[in-house]
Amino acid sequence: MDNVVYRRTKILATLGPATESPEVLDRLVKAGVDVVRLNFSHGSPEEHQARAERVRAAAKANGRFVGVLVDLQGPKIRVRRFKKGGILLKHNDDFCLNADLARDDGDQTQVGITYPQLPGDVKENDVLVLDDGMIVLKVRSVEGNKIHTSVLVGGKLSDGKGINLKGGGLSADALTEKDKEDIKTAALIEADYVAISFPRNSGDVKLAKLLLREAGGHGGIVSKIERAEAIENIESITEESCAIMIARGDLGVEIGDEQLPAVQKRLIKLARSMNRVVITATQMMESMRENPIPTRAEVFDVANAVLDGTDVVMLSAETATGSFPVETVAAMSRICRNAEQQSDASKSHHRIDTTFENADEAIAMASMYTANHLKVRAIASLTESGSTALWMSRISSGIPIYALSTHERTNRKVSMYRGVTPVDFPIIEDNNHAAANKIAIDVLLDEGVVKEGDLVIITKGDLMGTGGGTNAMKIVKVGKMPNLAD
Ligand code: PEP
Repeated sequence: MDNVVYRRTKILATLGPATESPEVLDRLVKAGVDVVRLNFSHGSPEEHQARAERVRAAAKANGRFVGVLVDLQGPKIRVRRFKKGGILLKHNDDFCLNADLARDDGDQTQVGITYPQLPGDVKENDVLVLDDGMIVLKVRSVEGNKIHTSVLVGGKLSDGKGINLKGGGLSADALTEKDKEDIKTAALIEADYVAISFPRNSGDVKLAKLLLREAGGHGGIVSKIERAEAIENIESITEESCAIMIARGDLGVEIGDEQLPAVQKRLIKLARSMNRVVITATQMMESMRENPIPTRAEVFDVANAVLDGTDVVMLSAETATGSFPVETVAAMSRICRNAEQQSDASKSHHRIDTTFENADEAIAMASMYTANHLKVRAIASLTESGSTALWMSRISSGIPIYALSTHERTNRKVSMYRGVTPVDFPIIEDNNHAAANKIAIDVLLDEGVVKEGDLVIITKGDLMGTGGGTNAMKIVKVGKMPNLAD
């Protein structure tokens, strides 16, 4: 069993030019990518569709399930272009953000902006942060469509850099017209998850879900938490979402980087307590865009997110455009596995005092309680929708959870749940429980997680093939199974 490489925390890697070739994708899957992110801020629908097909082919060739997450661009506000590509701003310079300026006409004194309403959203003394914090401007005055500012922190400003308002408060809707079109592409691609950028409240999440369902998409909505307002409405946003992403880039700019560690811990706790999945994102292995090994600080960042209880750690430019995409995934995987060995990573107080609403949730909790207190080697959960496995995975534990499903969609979806490994399961004829139990044990033996004499837990419903029907937990000793017929 020692040769089994088992990792609970999931790795979400952004695809891009660095991961275009089938050979690199194959190595990425072998290195342990669980979900890929298609970043709709760049590229055409056709390119994204081709990428989704290539990654699914690579997953299939490796006998794995890899989820696909479509990340919508959202209302990211940017400066337009400069006549000469960029300028150098110095402390105390006057600089104007001019909504009336033509696209390519930026110069040393002014530049156009992609969001014409921005002058209406800001006032004197507001602070605008450009290029992820590299440049900081203080608003002196607003005149019609022009925002006059003084440079607080100078530096090089080039075409298309992002603009955030410190403290939040921008009026832009979360879903742009482009996003609404891209939701149709997400449905076409059969994305397992669709991430919305800059949602402000649960209404934004509801609208995205409605549009996705209208387009025929089945994916779960991931809310990227990257606006100050989203923090204020975090409970209702999380309630409405399948997962939340702690989008530390834009969020750090809006609320201040120094707030991020506390917010990360709070959001991870909250999502888990609400039975939702949580992704920790941005700059986790940033230096590996150019170097074959991470910095010590990056090792600590990934390990700390694992100890905080995140389901997923995300890679952005590291795998999309970096020089070492495969090495980055392999290094991240090693860091996660080692962090998971810390005893803090497997202690749980989850829902210790709450009442359960459904039999399947009660079975999931009972299984984890039993597994954590009896020397159980693994859990096999026969699941239709994956919800029993989700509930199980909210409990911190070192015991592997295998989600056995006949549905490929479910297997791709659970690829984002911490501690859950998806495995294809055959359709069982005539509700034959003895056959289902035997196959479940065989799967665990095949995976190399159990051996004769080990205890395992099997959960399933009386009527197999029925969603929400899990009502039984069985403790079985591998090799000695007298009453498999239940
Ligand atoms: C972020 O801002 O941290 C983030 C994940 O969003 P994006 O990469 O889309 O800017």
